[in-house]
Amino acid sequence: MEGCKVIRWNYKTGKAEPFVIPDGYECPLICSGMNRIVNCPSCGTRLRYGDAFTSMEIMTDSGLSFSVCGKCYEAEKVRRAKWADKWAQKT
Ligand SMILES: [Zn+2]
Repeated sequence: MEGCKVIRWNYKTGKAEPFVIPDGYECPLICSGMNRIVNCPSCGTRLRYGDAFTSMEIMTDSGLSFSVCGKCYEAEKVRRAKWADKWAQKT
């Protein structure tokens, strides 16, 4: 991801934080084939691009989301539900 800043949304703080995709991970933003094997940028799991989910947390600073594995996606959903409630209660 040369010249492209990656961020991870932190629901707890409500802020984006810099995120570094480890060297050697294959994490295309746009993929030409659904059968291509990619890495989940969050945990490194290798999976078919077609089986990946659009992340709600890991994205470029211009808002293009990366594709994460099902397990990380579920964890994102749990975090989002938990913290969305907290933020909603504050208002
Ligand atoms: Zn993962």
